[in-house]
Amino acid sequence: MGPHRPTPELPRHLEQLYTRFPFARSFADDPIAALRPLARDPKRAEIAGIFASTLAIGNTTAIRGAIGRLAALVDDDVLGLVDPSRAAELRRDLRGFRHRWIRGDQLAFLGERLGAYYARAPSLERAFADGLAEGGFARGLDALARVLRGTEGPAGARRPPRGYVTLFPSPLDPGHSAAKRLTLFVRWMVRARYPDLGVWRTIPTGELRVPLDQHVHWIAYHLGLTGRRSRSWAAVEEVSEALRRIDPVDPVRYDFVLCHTGISGDCPKERDLAVCGPCSVRPDCRLWRPTRGAA
Ligand code: SF4
Repeated sequence: MGPHRPTPELPRHLEQLYTRFPFARSFADDPIAALRPLARDPKRAEIAGIFASTLAIGNTTAIRGAIGRLAALVDDDVLGLVDPSRAAELRRDLRGFRHRWIRGDQLAFLGERLGAYYARAPSLERAFADGLAEGGFARGLDALARVLRGTEGPAGARRPPRGYVTLFPSPLDPGHSAAKRLTLFVRWMVRARYPDLGVWRTIPTGELRVPLDQHVHWIAYHLGLTGRRSRSWAAVEEVSEALRRIDPVDPVRYDFVLCHTGISGDCPKERDLAVCGPCSVRPDCRLWRPTRGAA
């Protein structure tokens, strides 16, 4: 079986999927719903965005619940999360917090790291932009990961809590992680078009890479946007490049729709005529094309 390539009609079908998509339904189910009210306040949007993306593990209901619990524990004081004078208070307030394997002490440390970073730079955009200029998108993510990990703090700085550093994988690590959560954070910050926030103004949207979660990867593979079965950084680059050929200015335009097509159950991830019937990309889907490969 040869490689499954996108059909020439895929761009038109993706656009149909996009224009018919029930954005309001899926927006309410997405972590970005908690961030949109902050879009006019870049500092708060960035801080809330990095905490929300860090918590973006598991299903959307659990993620939104975790974001809500964190906001309640700090009385919606976003700036307080990174206020060095309140670090001890934050450690105490977040002591009992859990979301999957993420603990409150780790989030308090993240606040400390950000507080230390903001003492010398106005925005994480600077760290990302420097990395991007130096070596491309993966280098930009790596620069962000190094800031957040806190492994380069001043001598005598508090050591990160157990398991903290692994919360921020970089594509340049030996495992070449897809770094979905940091890539998602950058999408939120850079794209100004709905549903994203557009608070970083110096990064061209054409540079963005797709946050490759399991849903986006499944559909990207079945549309021929990648031939890779594992969610590596190489797969991120392959899918992003295929999408860039469709829209060079805004290659991640379809990310939200592809992701929520999977999350919502609109895509059953198997041949099911009742569900697949109205799917705009059915003629492009590996499961339905005559040259079907293994699903
Ligand atoms: S045709 Fe069916 S399985 Fe394929 S992408 Fe559409 S909904 Fe999913």
